[in-house]
Amino acid sequence: MKQIVPNWLKKRAELTPNRIAVMFEGNEYTFKQVFESAARVAAQLTGIGLKKGSSAAVLISNHVDSVMILYALQMLGVRAVILNNRLTSKELLWQLEDSNAEVLLYENAFMEKVTKIKNTYQHVVLEKEELFKGNSANADLQEEYDLDDVTTIMYTSGTTGNPKGVLQTFGNHWWSATASALNLGLTDGERWLCAVPIFHISGYSILMRSLIYGMTVILHHSFKEREAIEEIISNRVTMMSVVSTMLMKMNDILEVGQMPETFRGMLLGGGPAPLSLLEDCKRKSIPVYQSYGMTETASQFATLAPEYGIEKLGSAGKALFPNQIKIIDEGGNELTNGSEGEILVKGPNVTPGYLNREQETNNTMNNGWFHTGDIGYLDKDGFLYVLDRRSDLIISGGENIYPAEIESVLLSHEDVVDAGIVGMEHPNWGQVPAAFVVKKKVATISENDLENYCRERLAKYKVPKSIRFVEELPRNAAKKLLRKELREWLKRELT
Ligand code: ATP
Ligand code: MG
Repeated sequence: MKQIVPNWLKKRAELTPNRIAVMFEGNEYTFKQVFESAARVAAQLTGIGLKKGSSAAVLISNHVDSVMILYALQMLGVRAVILNNRLTSKELLWQLEDSNAEVLLYENAFMEKVTKIKNTYQHVVLEKEELFKGNSANADLQEEYDLDDVTTIMYTSGTTGNPKGVLQTFGNHWWSATASALNLGLTDGERWLCAVPIFHISGYSILMRSLIYGMTVILHHSFKEREAIEEIISNRVTMMSVVSTMLMKMNDILEVGQMPETFRGMLLGGGPAPLSLLEDCKRKSIPVYQSYGMTETASQFATLAPEYGIEKLGSAGKALFPNQIKIIDEGGNELTNGSEGEILVKGPNVTPGYLNREQETNNTMNNGWFHTGDIGYLDKDGFLYVLDRRSDLIISGGENIYPAEIESVLLSHEDVVDAGIVGMEHPNWGQVPAAFVVKKKVATISENDLENYCRERLAKYKVPKSIRFVEELPRNAAKKLLRKELREWLKRELT
């Protein structure tokens, strides 16, 4: 039987019309105002021919107008293909063609990228202000949502291969928001600081929580550590979503005990976090919820509560209430003894599959279990430890080496700004770890010093056998380290 729920924003505007939905650049917008504005935008979107079942790509930044556009698309039943605005025009074109979105809505700030693809992309391309000035038509706002309907399509970051369009249903977002609330709880006057991009699931999921919980989103156009800290202190922020580089920048300038009582925590996701950072946050009483999730799980899937921050340091916690995790070996057998293997996840927030990729969907889905491609283990108490991506695993003399562990050690050195590890062919060991390191501009540290530093902290076989200082590491539009590029660098150098 279909599971039908009422239109989220409309319902929210009925239940708590005067509550603040969004704060942006000094202005406040109540749920009633947001509903009315989004309904106006929906009429304009109808004016350009969008209707239930259509798909529209959006190239937008963190702005209150973008929130209205996203809510309008959702209320119309139009699938929003939410593009990462840091992509190059070539990458954007690839995703536009892959998704076959009927319309591209963009913000003026991205005009240059759009100009480059306008002629190749054979669909309607419309700037935000033009949409807002254009003709309206009678919008068919959906009274009800079917939880199985797809409402957003987001591409994976493309860290391991080509990005894949992830189908996200209303049900995925609903269960993600519910699972998060059951875990973190909800306080009166919840205010979530969103300085992560709303084009990414980390930011978009905050918007969905806002509708479902009736909480305020404090939206920042971009992340600036001082502004974020100032906001938390002076504006009663209760939660903030961060990735580790953001937390690092905040931690650098935060003093012990500076976080106010009202602040409940940093929801940390997106990738591995160096242990030294987590220790430092603990010391400064910055509550951190380390989490594990991906585009395919519509945000966090497992989370570690701050009270376990020390005892289970480095763990991503336990699967949230509606979620399950299991670890399997290469033969597909479940491992229950704490051994390392591939992480499989199952739950109502897991995507039904990839857009136009039946083969890939079938390869990753097995009886409701999604194969994440990540390696990890569950400790004796059931806490998840994510080690790394299966595709980046280095096998050296029969020993498994996880690049993230070595990178974390290198990053704990005060002269190191960035670090990347990949496997390098070796006649005796098969593979050995090779390091690429970005050091601080003023640092005088040598390869030898770093090697010694690693030797003191890592088993011998994990110590990088070569260290190369470089200006910058290759990162994708999600700022994730591209180890496949580093492998290319090595290959080019060695041939
Ligand atoms: P692609 O799938 O295209 O290669 P991606 O996996 O980087 O890109 P995302 O969905 O943005 O795309 O990222 C999810 C991935 O991030 C996870 O599969 C995992 O590898 C990594 N990740 C998330 N949380 C953690 C964590 N706590 N520790 C380690 N890695 C994490
Ligand atoms: Mg992935």
